[in-house]
Amino acid sequence: MAKASEIKNEDSIEIVEAYYCTECKRNHTKGKIYKEHLQFAKIENDGEEITEDDELELNKDDYSEQEEIDLAEEIEDTDLEEDIEFEEDDDFDIGEKILNDDVQNCVEAVKKLPGVGEATLKKLIKAGFNSLESIAYTPPSIIQEESGLGDKTTVRLIKASMEKLNIGFKSAEDVWEHRKNIARISTGSQELDDLLGGGLETGCVTEFFGEFRTGKTQIMHQLCVNVQLSREKGGLEGNALYIDTEGTFRPERIIQMSEALDLDHKKVLKNIVFGRAYNSDHQILLIKEAANLIKERNIKVIVVDSLIGHFRSEYIGRGTLANRQQLINSHLHDLLRLADIHPELGIVVTNQVQSKPDVFYGNPLQATGGNVVAHGSTIRIYLRKGKGEQRVAKMVDAPHLPEGEAVFSITENGISD
Ligand code: ADP
Ligand code: MG
Repeated sequence: MAKASEIKNEDSIEIVEAYYCTECKRNHTKGKIYKEHLQFAKIENDGEEITEDDELELNKDDYSEQEEIDLAEEIEDTDLEEDIEFEEDDDFDIGEKILNDDVQNCVEAVKKLPGVGEATLKKLIKAGFNSLESIAYTPPSIIQEESGLGDKTTVRLIKASMEKLNIGFKSAEDVWEHRKNIARISTGSQELDDLLGGGLETGCVTEFFGEFRTGKTQIMHQLCVNVQLSREKGGLEGNALYIDTEGTFRPERIIQMSEALDLDHKKVLKNIVFGRAYNSDHQILLIKEAANLIKERNIKVIVVDSLIGHFRSEYIGRGTLANRQQLINSHLHDLLRLADIHPELGIVVTNQVQSKPDVFYGNPLQATGGNVVAHGSTIRIYLRKGKGEQRVAKMVDAPHLPEGEAVFSITENGISD
C-alpha cells in the first residue's frame, strides 16, 4: 500500500460526495481521492456509520502476515540492550542497592493490586508499567495496546492504582508537597541559569531550538555532566539518559567537560545511559523503555537530541502531515507524562528550525513540528549565534518566567558565561 505522498496526481480521481477515509482518518468533504484509498472510503449519508470495528476490518488488509512478522522482529531488534551497555558495576555501592530496592518496591506494589497474578504482572512489566504511577497516569488505550491486557482489566488496574496513590482531588498542600521536589540543574552558565529561573527545571519538558551550530547539542552534553554534580554545585547527584537521533553524541566532549569540573571522567561516562535512535519508531520505543530505567539507574535528566528530525524526514508531503503530527504529539505526551510522574526528573529536547521564506517581518525561523511541539513543551528557549563563541538564548512563551535574553559561551571546557 503506497503512502499518500507516493501516489502521483494522475492516480487520484475526483469525488463529489463527502466520504470518510479510514486511511487518512478523516472526512473529506470535497476534492480528490487517491485510487488506492478508495477501498477505505465510506461515502457519508449512505446510512452507515463507520465504527471502530469496521475500521479494524478495513485496515486488516494493510498488513500482510509477513509484514507483521517483520514488525515483530524489528521490535525485538530494537531492544534497548543493544544500544545501552549495562555494565555490571564493579564499584557497586550502597546507593545502588537502595535504588534497586526502590524498583523492587514499586513492582511489589503493582503485584499487590487486586487481580494481578504472575501472567498479568509479566505483561505489565514487559510493557514498561512497573509502578503504580506508570499505570495510573497512562491512558487505558495505551496500556491495553502495549500490554495486551483486556479493557476491563486495564480500567480496573488504573482505578486501583489511582486509589492507592490518592489521585483525584487533593489539597493545595499536597500539590505543594509535589512541587517542592522540583529541582534545578545548572547549565554551566550563570546567565542561562538565570534566564531559566535558576537552571533547567525538573518535572517539565524544556525545548532548545535554533539553527545548526547554535549549541543545542553542547548544552545537552553539559547537562548530562552537570546533573551528576552535588546539589551545592548545581547538580542532582543523578545520572543521565541520552537519546541521540542524529549521531552527534561525543564521549570526547563529556571527557573534556568532566575534566574542566575536576570529575572522574570514567565515572561520568558510566553514568550516562546512551541510546541511539535510528528512526522514529525506535525513538518512540526508547522513550517507552526509559520509563523502566528512571528509578533503576537513578536518572535525573533525559535528553532527546533531536526530537523531530526523524519524523520530519520519514513523513514527507501533505498527505502524511496529520499522521506525523499525531505521532509527534503522542511521543511528546510520553515525555510529559514522565515529567509528571517524576518531579525530580529534567527532560530536555532539541529542535531544528525551519526557514520560512514567506515571512517578511519578524523572525522567519520557526521550530519544526508546528503547534504540537509549541504547546507540548513547557519551556522553550530559542538559540542564535552571537560573536565568536558567544550564543544568545531567548525565552519564548514561558508563562511563569520573565521574557529576556542570556548570553553564554561555548568553549573547550563546555558551556560557560
Ligand atoms: P547544534 O547542536 O545546535 O547544531 P552544537 O551544539 O553541535 O550545535 O554546537 C556546535 C558549536 O559548538 C560549534 O560551532 C563550536 O562553536 C562549539 N564547539 C563544539 N565543540 C567544541 C570544542 N571542543 N571547543 C570549543 N567549542 C566547541
Ligand atoms: Mg546538534
